[in-house]
Amino acid sequence: MGDGYVWVADTDAGPQDAEALAGRVVHWLEEQGVIVGELTHCLLGDELGRAPGPRYARALIEDDGSLAGSGANGTGVDVERRVYVCADIWTARCPHCGARTEESATDGHGRWTDEWLPLLDAVYAWFGGGGPDHAACVRCGEQAAFLDWNFSPPIAVAQLGLTFWNWPMLSAAFLDELSAVLGGHRLVAAWTRV
Ligand SMILES: [Zn+2]
Repeated sequence: MGDGYVWVADTDAGPQDAEALAGRVVHWLEEQGVIVGELTHCLLGDELGRAPGPRYARALIEDDGSLAGSGANGTGVDVERRVYVCADIWTARCPHCGARTEESATDGHGRWTDEWLPLLDAVYAWFGGGGPDHAACVRCGEQAAFLDWNFSPPIAVAQLGLTFWNWPMLSAAFLDELSAVLGGHRLVAAWTRV
């Protein structure tokens, strides 16, 4: 099986407080035994991360044993503006009218119909840092923040994020705890293959 990871993006962290929040969340994860404090080569690539701690399983929905013995199973912390996406094709649903993006029958490969391309353009403008964090629905015309657009799989742009390499999905209860540690910030999380 190929590599995958869980990302958790704090969409409320600002550029000024991301560093302090990162320190707080790493300290808490270490205290809880979910990760170890020491930085080692346990990520994919050259950056240093923190290996799973003795009680990493408390973070998971179910411990399927996949973390044991796998090489790249560390946790990385990103304190910079980053776009968080998944490898699979997105769909999005308007929170106002319930309209859902449709796949083009002719183009295939998950490409949206031309009608929905303005939303896709807006998403990429947001990713690039030049666009607002919301867009109008092509059906009802109402504006909605991308966080409310019901993207599946999820997407996020954040100043602070955690990446758990080759971890299975984290439990909702654990994500709630993480959110509390981060001052009640909204978190977007997803599992994706590379
Ligand atoms: Zn709509």
